[in-house]
Amino acid sequence: MLFDPYQRKINYLRISVTDRCNLRCRYCMPEEGLSLIAHDEILTYEEILRIVRVFAKEGMSKVRLTGGEPLVRNGIVQFISRLSQIEEIRDLSLTTNGLLLKDFASDLKRAGLKRINISLDTLNHEKFSQITRRNGFERVWQGIEEAMRVSLFPIKINMVAIKGLNDDEIEAFARLTLHYPLIVRYIEYMPSGKGDEWKDGEILTVLEIKHRLEGMGNLIPIPSDQWDGPARRYRLEGAMGEIGLIGPVSDHFCGNCNRLRLTPDGKIRTCLFSDEEIDVKRFLRNGGSDEDVKKQLLLALQTKPERHLINTHQFKKCQRNMSAIGG
Ligand code: SAM
Ligand code: SF4
Repeated sequence: MLFDPYQRKINYLRISVTDRCNLRCRYCMPEEGLSLIAHDEILTYEEILRIVRVFAKEGMSKVRLTGGEPLVRNGIVQFISRLSQIEEIRDLSLTTNGLLLKDFASDLKRAGLKRINISLDTLNHEKFSQITRRNGFERVWQGIEEAMRVSLFPIKINMVAIKGLNDDEIEAFARLTLHYPLIVRYIEYMPSGKGDEWKDGEILTVLEIKHRLEGMGNLIPIPSDQWDGPARRYRLEGAMGEIGLIGPVSDHFCGNCNRLRLTPDGKIRTCLFSDEEIDVKRFLRNGGSDEDVKKQLLLALQTKPERHLINTHQFKKCQRNMSAIGG
C-alpha cells in the first residue's frame, strides 16, 4: 500500500492522455487554444501502461483517464481495453466533455470502462455555445443518453457552477436526477487554467448550492463509501438519481486526498494546485528499469503537499493549464 507523509493512503491515479481538446470552455482555455505539447513529448500508450503496471503493483487500484479531451486521442478504446486487463486496477473510469460520446460509448463499455463522468455546465443550447465557444449541446446530450443505454453506470454529470454564468440552472440540473438515474455533481469554480480571469466573487459555494437545493424539497444525505472521493452525496426525495457537492475551494478536502496525477508529457503531479512535478518519462526513455519508475512514484509521494493554498495569501496560480493536468 502507498502512503504519503500525512498518512493518506494513495490509490488513485488520474491520467491526462492528451492536452488537445475539441472545446474551448471559457473557464479553462483561451479562445485561440493553448500552445500544445509536442507529439513526441507525449507519453505513448505503451509508456503509460508500463507506469500503470508498476504503480498498480505498489497499490494503485483506481485509474481515471482525462485530458484535454481523452476521446480525441487516436486508439483510446484499444488503450482502455489493455488497461482494463491490469488485474490490480479495480476501478477504471473516464472524464469527457461528451462531444464524441455517442459514437464511443458502446466501444468504451466493451473495452472494459467501468463508469464515466461527463462535464456539462448548461442545459441550454445557446449557453452551451457561449461557454464552450463551440456548438454541440445536442451531441453531448445524445452522448449521455447513449452512456445510459449501454449502462456505463454510475454516470456522473459534472457542472462547474459560476455566478452570473450558469447559477440560474442549479435547480434544472437537480431536476434531471428526478427523471434519470444520473449523479449530478456541482463543482466550485477553481482558480486554475488560462481561461477567463478567475474572480472569487464568481464562486458559487457548495453551501449556497445546498441552500438552493433545499428549497426544492427534502434533500436526503447519503453516507459515502470508500469509492466516493470528495463529493458530499444527497438525494432529492423520490429521485432516481443523486446529487453530489464538491467544494475544492470553500471546503477543501485535502485531508482525504488519495490521488496522484500523470500529465500527458510524463510528469507525476502531486496536487492539482502545486507545480511540483516528478519526471518519470526521463527514466522510461533512457532505459530505466521498473525499479526506477517505482522510485519516482515514491519520491512523488514524499513531496505531496499537505493541502492546497487557495484562500491563503501564499496561493499562486499554477503554471500548467487544467487541460494539461486533467482537472
Ligand atoms: N475535457 C474533459 C472534460 O471537460 O470533462 C476532461 C478534462 S477537463 C480539464 C476536467 C474537468 O475539469 C471538467 O469537468 C472541467 O469542467 C473541469 N474544470 C476545468 N477548469 C476548471 C475550473 N477553473 N474550475 C473548476 N473545474 C474546472
Ligand atoms: Fe476542453 Fe475539458 Fe477544458 Fe472544456 S474543460 S476546454 S472540454 S479540457
